[in-house]
Amino acid sequence: MRALKPEDLENFSTILCDLDGVVWREKNVIWENVNALRELKGRGKRLIFITNNSSRKPDDYWERLRELGIEADMIITSSTATANYLVKRGIKRVYAVGEEGLFWALESNGIEICEEEPQAVVVGIDRTFNYEKLKKASNFVYFGALFVATNLDAHVREENGILPGAGSIVSAISYASGRKPDVVIGKPNRYIFENLDLNGAVLIGDNLETDILAGKKLGIPTVFVLSGVHKLEDVERLKIEPDFYAENLQRL
Ligand SMILES: [Mg+2]
Repeated sequence: MRALKPEDLENFSTILCDLDGVVWREKNVIWENVNALRELKGRGKRLIFITNNSSRKPDDYWERLRELGIEADMIITSSTATANYLVKRGIKRVYAVGEEGLFWALESNGIEICEEEPQAVVVGIDRTFNYEKLKKASNFVYFGALFVATNLDAHVREENGILPGAGSIVSAISYASGRKPDVVIGKPNRYIFENLDLNGAVLIGDNLETDILAGKKLGIPTVFVLSGVHKLEDVERLKIEPDFYAENLQRL
């Protein structure tokens, strides 16, 4: 691991970039990174944004990025990747625990969201999760439905603390049903990268356990930015070492 130098990114044609903690932290834009990404795009790099957040539609991100002057080439959420995974495996009926982004991704891929006899139970973050949903999801999983998690993020930071993430809801269903998810789509797993040409790609992220570990598993060089959840001392603690680190992408 070493500090990133400006010329290091010149070697790559595709930037795979996380959103939360790199482009923004909730409502706060991380301008140093936004400016650098705009500049990289101006120099002809492909910009692909990949987020574990399952709650929003890609359109929300396209719009917000455009407002920041970033023209993305592609946006992948754990919800769109989950829908692709299910389509490829011929799954047509699911019970879904999640928010707008997940429901939109499933429906726009022709997957029926049902309350009876689903082939799969699909779980993302759901800020209206309750006992009834836990009961339904756990029963379907218990009786053999494929158990698909959009991601296993424990929590998302918010201003005054944490929001329990998809992983905490998956855990509740797991505990009740006695089964672990059959597949986890989001980072650090490879499913969210399916269909991507990873030649000449570098992965940028703020989370060692999702972003950087994903890059390592895929054999892609990684840049760890210190603008988000993890700090430099976490590299030693978690034993996940990126290729490069940077305070942010502008101040190299
Ligand atoms: Mg992040």
